[in-house]
Amino acid sequence: MDFKELERLINLDAFTTDKAGVDRNGAVYAQWLQPLGFEVERYQRELIGDHLMFRSERRPGARLLLLGHLDTGSPAHYSPRFTEDDGWVYGPGVCDMKGGNYVAVCALRNLHEQRGRIANVDLLLVSDAEGGSGDSHSLTAALAREYDSCLVFAAAGSRHEVVTGRQGVAAYVIRLSGRSFQAGSLYTQHTNATETAGWLASALIALSDPERGSCVSVARIGEDGVAAKVLPEVELLVEVRYSSIPERERLLGEFSELLDSSNLRLVDIEISGGIQRDVMAPDMEQADWLEQIEEWLGYPLKTERRTATSDANIVAAEGVPTLDGFGPHGDGEHTRKERARKASFVRRIDEVTRILQAFDDQSELVEESRKWLEKDSLTH
Ligand SMILES: [Zn+2]
Repeated sequence: MDFKELERLINLDAFTTDKAGVDRNGAVYAQWLQPLGFEVERYQRELIGDHLMFRSERRPGARLLLLGHLDTGSPAHYSPRFTEDDGWVYGPGVCDMKGGNYVAVCALRNLHEQRGRIANVDLLLVSDAEGGSGDSHSLTAALAREYDSCLVFAAAGSRHEVVTGRQGVAAYVIRLSGRSFQAGSLYTQHTNATETAGWLASALIALSDPERGSCVSVARIGEDGVAAKVLPEVELLVEVRYSSIPERERLLGEFSELLDSSNLRLVDIEISGGIQRDVMAPDMEQADWLEQIEEWLGYPLKTERRTATSDANIVAAEGVPTLDGFGPHGDGEHTRKERARKASFVRRIDEVTRILQAFDDQSELVEESRKWLEKDSLTH
């Protein structure tokens, strides 16, 4: 295959905060997908790129959501242009996630070429995934509920693994307000916000349980100050990562117990934040979806779990069977060395094409039996 179209995409900057750049990328997908019969639903945004939902024709039967993102994690000034050699393509987004989106587009084109139309398969491309999907989160969650299953186009593993699990992440800002005073006095009264924050930070970090895949980390932000003066306020940035729902419950439960501790009674506490992307954990429905795909392909797929989150977390949290990693294999995401393997594009496009064909055959069957039942009820 040639990579001219991908080159065009890669050379359009699309850092999350570059609205014009992200929208220019979105326009390319619209130009490619409208001729295949997709309607574009545009969720306009002022400060970030528009989120785009590409909808195909509706029929009775199961619905499949394909999910990617328009933005990249590399600012324009930082990014090299597209290059290629015999084995690899290079450039910002070649695997995360312009390359993955391109796999989806090529597979949809193949399906359209074979069937002359596409039904019940939609593609959602959000504009802010690299910024944590703060804006698109609720949109993705709401749209996801319309679907029976989902494929996400993050990079494949090095042996073409698909991703069955991703950690959940919750993030908080805790502001502790004590009293300001000259160093050397009042040390027994626990009104010292710095001292209290130190105690709280180590208690929070101690909730980590690496064996169960949980990690709590704390970054402290204080104002500029001098050691001779105790600052009245300290802010803690807290990030909680977990690999299962029981661990989420344990961590958040113990977290709120800590905040009730008597050690904190003499300072004021303000807390904001919450779950950013909930855990994606393997379950029965996902296992069935994977088994169905393996049956369609005729061979098993290797699987892996990752610590990093993606928008797959959001869809999976809505109870939709979700598999991630359907993009090409690559590495160096968000760095100058981002690259993706050419052969991997060929493999993934072939696989996703066959998945879409089999999915379409299945909904064709549903459609035929519906028509047959209708006819049957008319003749009786
Ligand atoms: Zn990324």
